[in-house]
Amino acid sequence: MAPRKLAAGNWKMNGTLASLAEIDRLLADHPAPGCDVLICPPATLVHAMAARAQGRIATGGQDCHARTSGAHTGDIAAAQLKDAGASHVILGHSERRTDHAETDAQVAAKAVAAHQAGLVAVICVGETEAQRDAGQTLDVISAQLAGSVPDGATAANTVIAYEPVWAIGTGRTPTNDQIAEVHALMRDRLAARFADGADFALLYGGSVKPGNAAEIFAIPHVNGALVGGASLKAEDFGPIIAALSAA
Ligand code: PEP
Repeated sequence: MAPRKLAAGNWKMNGTLASLAEIDRLLADHPAPGCDVLICPPATLVHAMAARAQGRIATGGQDCHARTSGAHTGDIAAAQLKDAGASHVILGHSERRTDHAETDAQVAAKAVAAHQAGLVAVICVGETEAQRDAGQTLDVISAQLAGSVPDGATAANTVIAYEPVWAIGTGRTPTNDQIAEVHALMRDRLAARFADGADFALLYGGSVKPGNAAEIFAIPHVNGALVGGASLKAEDFGPIIAALSAA
């Protein structure tokens, strides 16, 4: 099985019910995309988006708790996301790792919870600019993969997103060679650890736009993208879906 191609959108803390009109536009403009499409809206919109997209676009959460229920005010269990219509959940996004001091071990525990609830975990890894400047990128990515991806991960229940922290929301992207180097490393590490490691979908994330998507999707072992800002509007996300479909 070759990795599935996935165009994933992360709406972060953006959007209200009115924003779901973008889903209608995407469905109208791309009725039969040649890749999987996922949008992860704020938790308040998961149920409505899943109902609106009718499975033609998958819906995901942006985080979940490692526990199944209990006294965790403000948190969401994986099964609650599933109940609301989600099929995926982003875990370990750098904004969670920074704003909420999430560790690799916590991300792995959340991924186990996601898998138990029947969700696909989209696990994010990525180096800071200081780490890249210090020549630590490959060591950082290896350590995050080892620590954040649980033993029960499979190509069916886990997607990995390489998101250099310094490229998120900045308009800056690594060179194609830098992306290729990290994706080749991730493929090697996953293949060494998991029987189906060659089949995990590997996404690149960080300032993907309509103008650079095709070039990024041509890089070996890039099976799609995790897109922030450019996923908010159908007029931007649509061309990225089209570029991945054509890749
Ligand atoms: C992200 O938040 O995952 C992301 C990649 O953001 P942007 O596309 O805006 O850089």
